Amino acid sequence: MAKFVDTIKRSTMSNIIIAIDGFSSTGKSSFAKLIAARLGILYLDSGAMYRAVTLYAADHGLISPDHVVNEPALKADLDGGKVAISFVRDEATGRHEICLNGTNVEKRIRQLDISNNVSHIAVIPFVRNFVDDLLHRYGADGCVMDGRDIGTAVFPNADLKLYMTADPAIRAQRRLDEMLLKGETADFEAVYKNVLERDYIDSHRAMNPLRKADDAIELDNSHMTIDEQMVWLGKVLKERFDIDF
Ligand code: C5P
Repeated sequence: MAKFVDTIKRSTMSNIIIAIDGFSSTGKSSFAKLIAARLGILYLDSGAMYRAVTLYAADHGLISPDHVVNEPALKADLDGGKVAISFVRDEATGRHEICLNGTNVEKRIRQLDISNNVSHIAVIPFVRNFVDDLLHRYGADGCVMDGRDIGTAVFPNADLKLYMTADPAIRAQRRLDEMLLKGETADFEAVYKNVLERDYIDSHRAMNPLRKADDAIELDNSHMTIDEQMVWLGKVLKERFDIDF
C-alpha cells in the first residue's frame, strides 16, 4: 500500500507537502527555500506569520515590555479583519515576501525586538488558529512549509516530515552572522539568550509545542553545510519517492 501511495506522489510532485520542523536558527528556512526552488513548489514560512502578528501587536501597543499581551484587543483585531497577511513576489530573487496590511515587512519582522516577543504571541491559542487557517489556505495544494508544529499539527498527513536540530551555540552564532551581514547590531550573548528562551517556550507551551513527529526524519546539521544537507535530502527523496532530486 505504501508503495502505491508513493507512486501516486511521484507523478504529482507539485502537490507534495513537505513539513520541516525544528528549533530556531537550525537553517530550516534556507533549506526549505532551496528544496522548494528545486522542486518548483511554493515555500511557506509559518514563523514569518507569527512574526507579522507580533509586529502588529507591537505597533499597536498590544504587548508590554515584559511581554504581557493585551489578548482581548488582539483577538478583536484578528477577528475584525484588521490584520491582513499577504505575500509579494520579489522579482529579483523569485521569492515571496510577507506583507502586513499591504506593507512589505519581511526585513522588519527579523529584528531582535520581534524575535524577543514572538514566542509570547505564538503561545496564544487564538493566534495559532489564525495562523493555521492561513497556512491551510496557502499550502493545501502543495508546499514546503517550515515551523514548529507543521508535521505534528498543521499538516499531520504531510508526505514527508523533517525534524531539524543543531547545537544551540552554533545556532546562535549562525543567527548573529546573519544579523551582522544585514548590518544589524547584536552581540552573541543576547542572541544566544534569545535562542535558548525561544527553545524553552516553543517546546513547553500547552498548544502544539515543538516536538518531533513520530514519523519525522531527524537531521542534526550542527556540522553540515547546506550542500551536504541537500545531498542528504536527495537520498531521502530517492528512497521515499524514487525521484532524482
Ligand atoms: O521560525 P522562526 O524562528 O521565524 O519563528 C518565530 C517564532 O514563531 C518561533 O520562535 C515560535 O515561537 C513561533 N512559531 C510557532 N509555530 C510555528 C512557527 C513559528 O510557534 N509553526
